Amino acid sequence: MGQNRRRAFITGINGQDGSYLAQLLLLKGYDVYGLTRSRRDRTLQQIELFAAGNDGVRGGLHLIDGDLRDRNTVLKTIEDVAPTEIYNLASQSNVARSFSEPELTHEVNYLAVSQLIDAIRASGIHTRFFQASSSEMFGLTKPPQNEDSPFMPQSPYAVAKTGAHVQVKEMRESFGLFAVSGIAFNHESPRRPEAFVTRKISSAVASISRGQAETLHLGNIEAVRDWGYAPEYVEGMWRSLQHDEPNDYVFASEQSHTVRDFAQFAFAAAGLDWRDHVVHDDNLERAHDMKASVGDASRARQVLGWSATVTTQELAGIMVDYDLSGNDEVDVPRLDSWS
Ligand code: NAP
Repeated sequence: MGQNRRRAFITGINGQDGSYLAQLLLLKGYDVYGLTRSRRDRTLQQIELFAAGNDGVRGGLHLIDGDLRDRNTVLKTIEDVAPTEIYNLASQSNVARSFSEPELTHEVNYLAVSQLIDAIRASGIHTRFFQASSSEMFGLTKPPQNEDSPFMPQSPYAVAKTGAHVQVKEMRESFGLFAVSGIAFNHESPRRPEAFVTRKISSAVASISRGQAETLHLGNIEAVRDWGYAPEYVEGMWRSLQHDEPNDYVFASEQSHTVRDFAQFAFAAAGLDWRDHVVHDDNLERAHDMKASVGDASRARQVLGWSATVTTQELAGIMVDYDLSGNDEVDVPRLDSWS
């Protein structure tokens, strides 16, 4: 452990956001401690290579084996490492899966967050805590949604995230702990699994472009979403813990696009016309879905100086380029703010 280096504990380090955040903090000179359930995870191995080989890396990477639901591992890590910042990014993050596995979703996304909060309090350390809340908590609330918009969750995922969000607020207001909730709207990257529609689209575009497939089946292409580029969002998370006061922040691109728009952007990035390949499939429609999700990130812009700069069209291009390249090396986001 480097003397006087800032120490961050990241849960979910091998996920999309956890891996980008680890990269960002390593570049900033942090000692990064990451909780993981599998050392064999491909993204994690790439982050280890990044930590070991990149000239710009000034911090160190340390991995801790464990499950967020394991109270003892979490408490021991916090006591041993005494992190200056904790980012809770681990979650069962798939909304559709939360309908088939509600208990697991509740355990990881709600109960484990309670345990983590208790562990921070029990350890007695002074730390800053970030919780990954979600725009899914707004559910049926009319967009644009900001920090004061009511929550109307429509899935077990959203219910569990709302419960955790309320606890974090309580931790801040009643116990005076430095606890922030980042209410993130959808953010994507080449590290999104194909269970998510954006990566399903970019991956299909690459296959169709190579002549390996002809069609892409999609459900409701009129669903409206607010999609940004994940590396920008993890920077917002970091900024929220550097501010003098803890608060809740919406992180959103503030752009609204339909799934159809995203498909159009992605196919166009490969010189294709989406209308030649997209097939509507009723079976892929969700019973309960947010019709429209568009964020208002005014507070993050005004207080943290944060805003999303990558447009949804550019995002689709980044994802398609990556899938077309066939290169699965870890990507270092080309963002001015990262250098
Ligand atoms: P992700 O790619 O699915 O990553 C989630 C991570 O959590 C994975 O590394 C996963 O590890 C880990 N995890 C799951 N269950 C665990 C457990 N019981 N113990 C330890 N680790 C566990 O999600 P993401 O896109 O990076 O999102 C990061 C956070 O932001 C999540 O909390 C998500 O709900 C929230 N969020 C994301 C978005 C978005 O658009 N990306 C929007 C709003 C909120 P395994 O590989 O071992 O499963």
